[in-house]
Amino acid sequence: MADIIQLLPDHVANQIAAGEVVQRPASVVKELLENAIDAGADAIKLIIKDGGKALIQVVDNGSGMSATDARLSFERHATSKIKNAEDLFKLTTKGFRGEALASIAAIAHVELLTKTETDEIGVQLKIEGSKLVSQEAIVTPKGTSFCVKNLFFNIPARRNFLKSNQVEFRHITDEFHRVALAHPNIQFHFYNNGSELFNLPKANYRQRIVGVFGNKTNEKLVPVEEETQVVKISGFITKPEFSKKSRGEQFFFVNDRFIKSPYLHHAVVSAFEGLIRSDSHPGYFLYLAIDPASIDINIHPTKTEIKFDDEHTLYAMLRSSIKHALGQFNVIPALDFEQDQNLETPYSYQNKHADVPKVVVDADFNPFAKDIPRSTSRPYFEKQTTIGWQNLYVGLESKVGKEADFSSVSFESESISGSIFKDDDLMMDHVSTTFQLKRKYIVTTIKSGMIIIDQSRAHQRVLYENFLKNITIKEAVSQQLLFPLRLSFSKTEIAIINEIKDSLVTLGFAFEAIEEEQIAISGVPLLVPESEVGMVLDQLISDFQMDVPGDSFSQSDIVSKTLSKSLAVKTGEQLDSESQSALVNNLFACKEYKISPFNKPIYITITGDDIDKKFF
Ligand code: ADP
Ligand code: MG
Repeated sequence: MADIIQLLPDHVANQIAAGEVVQRPASVVKELLENAIDAGADAIKLIIKDGGKALIQVVDNGSGMSATDARLSFERHATSKIKNAEDLFKLTTKGFRGEALASIAAIAHVELLTKTETDEIGVQLKIEGSKLVSQEAIVTPKGTSFCVKNLFFNIPARRNFLKSNQVEFRHITDEFHRVALAHPNIQFHFYNNGSELFNLPKANYRQRIVGVFGNKTNEKLVPVEEETQVVKISGFITKPEFSKKSRGEQFFFVNDRFIKSPYLHHAVVSAFEGLIRSDSHPGYFLYLAIDPASIDINIHPTKTEIKFDDEHTLYAMLRSSIKHALGQFNVIPALDFEQDQNLETPYSYQNKHADVPKVVVDADFNPFAKDIPRSTSRPYFEKQTTIGWQNLYVGLESKVGKEADFSSVSFESESISGSIFKDDDLMMDHVSTTFQLKRKYIVTTIKSGMIIIDQSRAHQRVLYENFLKNITIKEAVSQQLLFPLRLSFSKTEIAIINEIKDSLVTLGFAFEAIEEEQIAISGVPLLVPESEVGMVLDQLISDFQMDVPGDSFSQSDIVSKTLSKSLAVKTGEQLDSESQSALVNNLFACKEYKISPFNKPIYITITGDDIDKKFF
């Protein structure tokens, strides 16, 4: 047989490599920003158009390149950053693989302008799909400008695979945040579609974090400082009371490089244990400085994962330094028996004398009283659903006729549930009562046996259908707030709110103002308690973070789902018997009462036969 193996031509090899290095516009942004930093720039501009699909440009004032270097920089494995394998163990630069420019040039139209300090005149190169199109001498300031246009122009499959401009833009913003947070000593400008989004002057870490995430962030930050022989940890965590529903602001940097590490993340979260609810997330901006010889950055082509020689020690140090920080800033409650033994009294407390603790006794407390204490049951649940159903009929008034008023509510829902139970098996037992099992299920009897309902899923379904109907009939009832509720968000979060604003308005939210980093809400849907608004918006933002669907129907659907998930009673909540039966009735008045909005079964039935068999 004839020989069949041949070497791939360079441009094909480059395209294949590009698949690894360049997944989306944000990857190009990352590579170009890192190159600018490696070139020693102290001012960097990022310019984006149409989510990076039309244009990504990075302009720096770094070292620049000679004409020969400029040509060479687009070759594969062309790098100025390492010379031999040993260099891999003392890396101080972001790049070292020499692949980025070759890969980018293989799949886009690239224009490079560059000049060194000593050269009189600079050079301009144009490359399209690995082919040099032109090279000219040109007058340009010291530094480098990379223009990347028409990404994936020669790989339609990849181009079609890209998400909407907004989503791609958000990935770019994430990348920008990471780089800007890691390098406060560099000035950054970021322009999107012609308007300036960020202008970050040189600053310290705290100022940079505030510059990126907004002024409100400042009061949330607690400094973390710890220096040992293995690692120097510095940075900030957010105070427990500011922990969020979404996992937004969590950053690890190792030697100024953003990294992802589920293991170290766990160390941080475990330090917060007992201080925040299990479904909320602490924010952190942690900078670790470690001897480059004791880490291996090479295990991932995009270099966001690294391997540490001694992960366990790092884990322990990180955890204890965060506990320490929380303790020093008096964030941990005074009595914490689990506090680390080696933690000292917070400095400001050392010289204070100890007060005798006050004991407050409720003289009226009668442990034998029958009433369940109100606080443990869910006070607004019943009211909430009833109001919700009334809203529904308010919207339908014109259809039902002028006579329809709230007195028809009970009549209506009775007839609805009546019609549902034509399904004979589900026929509700008339003498049936309900009870709650493990604060999770509601058990009640039906003609054929018993039914066990997941309380949380049932309530999600009820709320979900309610919200959807409110949106479709566009007459959601909004409760006017006495004082507008002001909430702070980052610029990125505000962008998401703007995108889903219309759906929120049809639901009953009223926005008095949406500013750069703050919104003022003057009305909220009847079903959403004012105290929950912040939490609900947090959840919405985090659900929309990855993708905002363009069409309003799916937007409304996601909004309704998120709201129902956030507001539904949870496992562990005690419901009084009134609330239980209201929930059961409302559930079976739903259009689709069998599965939750998230496609989970809501109830199971156990028939008399099933039970008989057990006794056999
Ligand atoms: P790597 O960064 O891994 O070395 P790249 O393909 O990203 O590989 O870049 C190749 C080389 O081009 C770099 O090693 C550097 O010498 C040069 N280079 C790239 N970008 C710049 C820039 N903005 N300023 C100066 N030199 C640059
Ligand atoms: Mg590089």
